Amino acid sequence: MAQQLQFTCDGCGRELTSWSDGNPYYMDDSGQKQYAYHPDHEGLARCIGNDAEHLCLNCGLEFKVDSRFPAAACPDCQSTDQVDTYELDGRPCPFCKRGIFRLDPGAMAIS
Ligand SMILES: [Zn+2]
Ligand SMILES: [Zn+2]
Repeated sequence: MAQQLQFTCDGCGRELTSWSDGNPYYMDDSGQKQYAYHPDHEGLARCIGNDAEHLCLNCGLEFKVDSRFPAAACPDCQSTDQVDTYELDGRPCPFCKRGIFRLDPGAMAIS
């Protein structure tokens, strides 16, 4: 079961959503990366890694970080100040530089 979280910046109102599962993937027979999502249990059972959404706290870029090859820096600004979007609660907003992201308890969705 995947859980969707929504975070809202208390400074600029920017909203970001995150899935607790990230983007689990497996390699198909030809070596191509394939994403598996619920309810694809067969695919999920083959998963070997996870591309988790990350947010750069410096420039605001959202990018995926492969759990097998953790990136050290933001691909855009090279900052290492980044966070898994699932753990955005209480983090400073990179868009307005003054707000803090807060978990919105009313916007949770279950898949
Ligand atoms: Zn903000
Ligand atoms: Zn960046």
